[in-house]
Amino acid sequence: MRPKQVLALRPHHALCLLLFCPDGHSVRYAEKMRQLIRRIEQEEGSHIRMIPTPDEICGYCPYYDQGLCQKEDEVFCSDVNVLARCGLRFGDVVPWAELRRGLIAHIVEAGVIDEVCRGCMYLVRCRGRAPAHPGP
Ligand code: SF4
Ligand code: SF4
Repeated sequence: MRPKQVLALRPHHALCLLLFCPDGHSVRYAEKMRQLIRRIEQEEGSHIRMIPTPDEICGYCPYYDQGLCQKEDEVFCSDVNVLARCGLRFGDVVPWAELRRGLIAHIVEAGVIDEVCRGCMYLVRCRGRAPAHPGP
């Protein structure tokens, strides 16, 4: 049996991956997101570890500076909200397929993305958006 693949993510980034659209992002950020989407969707048994610190995506973001997120207060609230709505905690490791179902049911279909993603400049675009890829 293949070892499970574990990707460490800030919790709200799981939602960003689910609803990803390249418009408005830099080429390198968009390519990184596509790479991670391929990884979690195509690798059998992908798992996500919920972390409260910068992850693989942050290094491609304009708000990342010297190891810190310049929007930490805002994104931490989003992280906590995603965890609460999906019944998870920091440190949990969860199969992507299960997390994906939780994000869709408890955030996208529940219509609470405005609360979860408060302050994000891409909210208008992500609001009402269907998952951008079919899932594992
Ligand atoms: S609104 Fe922002 S934080 Fe929320 S899923 Fe979209 S890009 Fe990510
Ligand atoms: S640096 Fe902050 S805003 Fe940028 S991707 Fe990381 S957590 Fe999100």
